[in-house]
Amino acid sequence: MMRKNIGVLSFGCCRNLVDTETILSLLRDKGYRIVELNRAKIAIVNTCAFIKKAVEESTEAIKELISLKKEGKIDKIIVYGCLVERYKDRLLLSLEGIDAMVGRISLNHSLRKYFITPKHFAYLKISEGCNNFCSFCVIPHIKGRYQSRPVESIIEEAKLLDKRGVKEINLIGQDITLYGKDISPHLDLVTLLKEILRNTCNISWIRLLYLYPHRITDELLQLINNEPRICKYMDLPLQHINDRILKLMNRETGSADIFNLIKRIREKVSSVFIRTTLMVGFPTETDEEFEELVDFVKRVKFERLGVFIYSKESQTPAAKMRYQIPYLVKQKRFNRLMQVQQEISAQINSKFMGKILEVLIEERHDEYCYLGRTMYDAPEVDGTVWVKSNFPLEIGSFAKVRIIDTLEYDLVGEYIG
Ligand code: SF4
Repeated sequence: MMRKNIGVLSFGCCRNLVDTETILSLLRDKGYRIVELNRAKIAIVNTCAFIKKAVEESTEAIKELISLKKEGKIDKIIVYGCLVERYKDRLLLSLEGIDAMVGRISLNHSLRKYFITPKHFAYLKISEGCNNFCSFCVIPHIKGRYQSRPVESIIEEAKLLDKRGVKEINLIGQDITLYGKDISPHLDLVTLLKEILRNTCNISWIRLLYLYPHRITDELLQLINNEPRICKYMDLPLQHINDRILKLMNRETGSADIFNLIKRIREKVSSVFIRTTLMVGFPTETDEEFEELVDFVKRVKFERLGVFIYSKESQTPAAKMRYQIPYLVKQKRFNRLMQVQQEISAQINSKFMGKILEVLIEERHDEYCYLGRTMYDAPEVDGTVWVKSNFPLEIGSFAKVRIIDTLEYDLVGEYIG
C-alpha cells in the first residue's frame, strides 16, 4: 500500500531539530515520503513550549493546519513535543482536529539519516532533560531529569556523520557538562570527547554548546586547548552576575565563581571565544543590579553574547515572585545591553582586520560572494563571513580568507586559497 506524503514543521531549539530529523528518518524507513508541507497529506508539528512566545507560535501553526484539514488539503495532523508535554489537556480542549499527540518519547538518534541541517554540519545530541531547575525555566518540567545517551549510540552516530562527510558537529543537550554522571562515575564529557576524536577523522570542528558553568573542569579546558579539532569556542549561559539575582534564579554559581571561571578559561584555552546568554528583567531586578550586569559585560567583553528578556512562565518558581518587572522596563534593559555588546563586538571584530582565517563556506550569496563561518561562529546564532571570490567555491569546504573589512557582528574577506 502506497504510504501518504508527510510534511513537517519543526519549532524551537536545535535539540528539537534533532528529534525532528530522527522522526523523519524513522518514517522514511517505514516507506513514507517526506515532502514540502503544501504537498503533504499528513502534517507533523514538532512544537516548542519554552516560553509564552514559542507556545503562541506553535499553537498558531497547529490552528493553520486545522483550517487546511477543514479545506480537505491535509488528512492528518500529528502534534509532537514540548507543547504536548506542557499543555496536553489544554490542547485537547481548545484545538479540535488534531489526530494524534505525542509527548516525550525516547528516540534512538543513531538511526538518524534524514537531515534538515546542511550536509556539512550537524547537531549531535548527547543527553536529554536537566537537573538544574533554574527558577525561571520550564525545561526540567517538560523534558524531565537528566539522561545521558549511551556512549555507544553517540559514537555510532558520530561515525555515521563522519562517513557522511560532515565537517562540523555541535554537541548539544540542556547541559552537556553533566554528561555521563547518571551512567557511571568514570564517564564524563572529556571521556566522551576523546572517544569521538578517536572514532572520527573527517570532522574538523567539534563545538561544545550549552556548557553549565558550575561543572567546567581543568581537564576539559586542557583538552579543548590541546585538541585542534575542538573549536576554541565555549557556549556558557551565565544568565546574570548579581549574587542576589543568581540565588533567586537557583543558579549554582555566584559572581566570584563566574569571574574566576572566565579567568581560568581565558588562561587555559588560548584565543578562546566565550559565548554567553544573559537575562534581563528577572523578577525584583533593581536598576542597580541591572547596572551591575552592564558593567559585567563591559568588563568581561564576551566575544559572543545573547540577551533574553525574562518571560513569566507558569509552573516556575520565578512566576510566583512578587515584584515582576514591567515589560517596557525589561525591553529598555534589553536594548541597552545589546547596544553595549554591539560596540564590544565591533571592537573584537576589528582585531581580525588583515588576518587570514579558515572559513567554512556555507552558501553562495551571488556570483562573486559566498557566506561562511569561522570556528568562532556557531550555526544560526553568531556572525557571518562575507567571502568575495572570483572563483567558484564548494559549499561545505574550508577556504583561506583574508579579512578586508569588519562590521559589528560580521566580517568581510577575500578568498586567497
Ligand atoms: S540549565 Fe538551562 S535547561 Fe536547565 S533549568 Fe537551567 S535554563 Fe533550564
